[in-house]
Amino acid sequence: MDIKERMKIERHAMPEQPPAVRARNFEEVPLGYSDETAIMEAQRCIQCKKPFCMEGCPVSVKIPEFIKLIREGEFVAAARKIKETNALPAVCGRVCPQEAQCEGKCILGKKGEPVAIGRLERFCADYERNHELITIPLKETTTNRKVAVIGSGPAGLTVAGDLLLKGHDVTIYEALHKPGGVLVYGIPEFRLPKSIVDSEVNYLCQLGARLELNTVVGTAISVDDLFNVYGFHAVFIAVGAGLPKFLNIEGENLCGVYSANEYLTRVNLMKAYKNPTFDTPVFRGRRVAVVGGGNVAMDCLRTAMRLGAEKVFCVYRRAMEQMPARAEEIHHAKEEGIEFHLLRNPTRVLGDERGWVRGMEVVKMELGEPDDSGRRRPVEVEGSQYVLDVDTVIVGIGSDANPLLTSTMPDLKLNRWGNIKTDYEGRTSVKGVWAAGDIVTGAATVILAAGAGKICAQSIHEYLNGNDDWNVHSFSTE
Ligand code: FAD
Ligand code: SF4
Repeated sequence: MDIKERMKIERHAMPEQPPAVRARNFEEVPLGYSDETAIMEAQRCIQCKKPFCMEGCPVSVKIPEFIKLIREGEFVAAARKIKETNALPAVCGRVCPQEAQCEGKCILGKKGEPVAIGRLERFCADYERNHELITIPLKETTTNRKVAVIGSGPAGLTVAGDLLLKGHDVTIYEALHKPGGVLVYGIPEFRLPKSIVDSEVNYLCQLGARLELNTVVGTAISVDDLFNVYGFHAVFIAVGAGLPKFLNIEGENLCGVYSANEYLTRVNLMKAYKNPTFDTPVFRGRRVAVVGGGNVAMDCLRTAMRLGAEKVFCVYRRAMEQMPARAEEIHHAKEEGIEFHLLRNPTRVLGDERGWVRGMEVVKMELGEPDDSGRRRPVEVEGSQYVLDVDTVIVGIGSDANPLLTSTMPDLKLNRWGNIKTDYEGRTSVKGVWAAGDIVTGAATVILAAGAGKICAQSIHEYLNGNDDWNVHSFSTE
């Protein structure tokens, strides 16, 4: 097939549950490509000599190479090609903002639609897992060097995997009772089935990872203990940014107001949607307002709908074009009947005599001059307040670094938002301690956390092998 013929092929849609059906269940929404569709979609790639798609990928997945393997029917080889640089393809194929990364740069997108790189990534990772063809690679000879990984989100899982393969002994400490970080407690089942995260964790366990669950480092055990009592040679901190931000408005502590963090953790990790089969309760609001416009807000909106709400409102202070959520999430939310109240900002939450939410006052906004982020600043329209009739309010406006661990390490340098300062390879200001993921960057993305983890793993490996004298690195991250 020549290039012209390839460019005539239209992008292949992925089958999905119909909106009316899926809006009331927690099953995954997109159903994945068949073998035949994946091959046809892979035919669209023109194998550019200078593949711009790779420039858009934060971990430089060899995109044309893996797509060529799919075209040839070599699905498992394609999955392994991706794994050379991305340890979590089944996850990233589902949750990466491809439209702003690889697909946003694909040359085909200039005149038509880009190659569906994310869907193809998901396809081959699923193929490998569903056909039980994930093999456990041979590890390098044991080095008898011990590494403690604190936090089991994408950064922690990636570092653990890479260091285990290099023969190091890895223990993962996790505060919650289940490993996976945001992948299990934040992102809902209908977007990322938990069986996929379980399979990633099983893979690490088969490689020899030890898991210490229900262990909050900083309270149950200190980083000093990890070195001095437990004999670790290096520590990697990947505790994420799990401290919810609030609006700081009147009525925010009424019953029926949740932080997105609590709401999603109750429903996803604690399975409140299966209550009473599972013990965790959650208030199933009839009319629910979610404040925010990112992925977190979209997840809350769609979760509230699935819990049986009659009306679900997205209250966002800027316009649709400024929403930071993935395009697919916004599209799915609209299809599922979420109502968008854009250019609106909450001013107070109103309660009844029993202390339960009975409404939320919002004010209209208009866009003014650009702010530091380059986006036009929303400005209040004076006197435009009105009350939205709701019984539940979920605040999904982002999260900050949790100081629980960092506050116990006086020598650990932090920036003014409480994020850990590191050099390019993840070294912190404390000898033998690395950090990556949201605790360094602030709330970001799965692939950025995993990518930074890969760089740290290599740096830790050099250090453990004695090829890196810590003291030569001047710590300058100002
Ligand atoms: P996390 O995933 O936050 O994991 C940190 C882990 O450390 C947690 O398990 C936590 O329990 C544990 N921990 C914390 N403190 C301690 C302690 N003291 N001791 C032991 N363990 C501790 N990104 C995308 O790319 N696409 C998306 O669609 C997307 N959707 C999102 C939806 C939601 C609801 C949220 C909250 C985030 C979303 N993100 C998305 C962002 C993405 O999930 C994060 O950027 C990523 O998970 C960060 O990875 P991490 O490894 O740094 O930390
Ligand atoms: Fe294929 Fe698009 Fe990448 Fe070119 S830019 S190699 S067409 S995926």
